[in-house]
Amino acid sequence: MTVANLTLNDGARIPQVGFGVWQLPDARAPEVIGHALNSGYRHIDTAHAYNNEEGVGIAVRESGLPRDDIFVTSKLWNMFHGRDATMKAFDGTMQRLGLETLDMYLIHWPVPMEDKYVESWKAMIELRDAGRIKSIGVSNFNQDHLQRLIDETGVVPVVNQIELHPRFQQRAARDYHEKMGIRIESWSPLGQGNIIDDPVLKSIAAKHGKGVGQVILRWHVEQGLVVIPRSKTPKHIDENLQVFDFALDAGDMEQIAGMDRADGRIGPVPTELGVVNLPPKE
Ligand code: NAD
Repeated sequence: MTVANLTLNDGARIPQVGFGVWQLPDARAPEVIGHALNSGYRHIDTAHAYNNEEGVGIAVRESGLPRDDIFVTSKLWNMFHGRDATMKAFDGTMQRLGLETLDMYLIHWPVPMEDKYVESWKAMIELRDAGRIKSIGVSNFNQDHLQRLIDETGVVPVVNQIELHPRFQQRAARDYHEKMGIRIESWSPLGQGNIIDDPVLKSIAAKHGKGVGQVILRWHVEQGLVVIPRSKTPKHIDENLQVFDFALDAGDMEQIAGMDRADGRIGPVPTELGVVNLPPKE
């Protein structure tokens, strides 16, 4: 199945459906990501904090695919904000990945209480200008944080990766991102699997002869969002890419719009997450 590519504000192209690898142990990463690449995924979303960059690099190298065909994202962890720490953390990421260049590097969280995300952003601009990273973006930034990066550097992030799923639709954030040309990438696009049993989604899925996961991912895709679903199950990995051969109708979209909840957030509040140690390696 052909996966759509979207254009970022720096001209780079990103496959709209990627493969999220949070909670995938490094030792299993080559096998699971190998399956995803065989299945047709060409975009992998990892992070220093996921402790599996080595496995991601092995999967990319062992795939036999041309390096330019795979879009690899990693993220700067919260402990490494500031210019020098960012440079060092990036070097570590590239050593573990074993790759020459990174397609996209994101600041994982703004950590506003440290107030060093602008410094990290400037370091990332240097790395991009030196050709080591193709595209630079952020994750979990609110409008104030984004605007500050733009005001202080003139460089607009290509994406902001934020929690977004039918129970937490981030409607208030959408206009600003669109106006500034910042693509939203939906993390936990399936609500971490918690909404798979939702009766509204089940009835829409039955109507289209599709799985609930596919309906949710199609909902993201139709809104121009980039999605990075996670799974270790081959059947789900395959299914999650098969979302370009059907369309939701206006009634489906309206019903899903009605699932939005003010308290639907699963993850941390972005302004509250501080410096957290890297999780221990499994
Ligand atoms: P998700 O929304 O992708 O849900 C994953 C869960 O859904 C798993 O339990 C999986 O087994 C299940 N699942 C997957 N496909 C299914 C299907 N077709 N049918 C039924 N169940 C299915 O959750 P996530 O891992 O939180 O988010 C995806 C990715 O987003 C992560 O792997 C990571 O790359 C990224 N992420 C980023 C941040 C951030 O702060 N930037 C935070 C969380 C996640």
